[in-house]
Amino acid sequence: MNHYDEIRTRHEITIIESVAENLRKRDFEAMVLNSNDAVRQYIESEIQPDQTVGFGGSVTVRELGLDTLLRGRGNTVFDHWDANLSPEERLSTRRRQLDADCFITGSNAITRDGRIVNIDGIGNRVAAMIFGPRRVIAIVGANKIARDLDDAIWRIKNIASPRNSMRLSMDTPCARTGACVECSSRSSVCRVTTIIDYRPSETKFTVILLPVPLGF
Ligand code: SF4
Repeated sequence: MNHYDEIRTRHEITIIESVAENLRKRDFEAMVLNSNDAVRQYIESEIQPDQTVGFGGSVTVRELGLDTLLRGRGNTVFDHWDANLSPEERLSTRRRQLDADCFITGSNAITRDGRIVNIDGIGNRVAAMIFGPRRVIAIVGANKIARDLDDAIWRIKNIASPRNSMRLSMDTPCARTGACVECSSRSSVCRVTTIIDYRPSETKFTVILLPVPLGF
């Protein structure tokens, strides 16, 4: 790592440590881990082999290989991205995520003052982040940190949603132009917006922050 990379990393760590502190003030468990391997080790140590695990529709989770890791270890996983599922099975998998022992997901954005912001098309991911699973673990790269709520929504609608529209081959304006026009398309991936201000009171909720970009 050269001198300039070191400064970039130091800056990212300084920011995410202050976000972690603000999340703790909001009753979340929050930690900074420095590498993808450290996240995988943490997940392996925290989740028991007999526990059920739901995965949110999250590029971060797949980039980290957590679906492969836990499936390979024998955990029962509810993963609606499994290409072998029929549309009906995909829907029932989304429902089963709501009652999993642990739900692992990314987040579209977190504000510097510690609010967790997401936009969904179907809503299973944001529903599971609020109530149902006994535990939620959200893994968040430094690219998801937003200045405030307006910046968080802007980031989601002009970065995450266009990329997710492209990933899902959705016929939305942002998939064509890369920018949000606040469409009312039937294909819109922006139908439900959630802001989690404080830890939902019946859910153990851990946020893992990393000083690297992850997910969309
Ligand atoms: S509202 Fe429509 S155009 Fe805007 S980001 Fe969402 S899907 Fe794309």
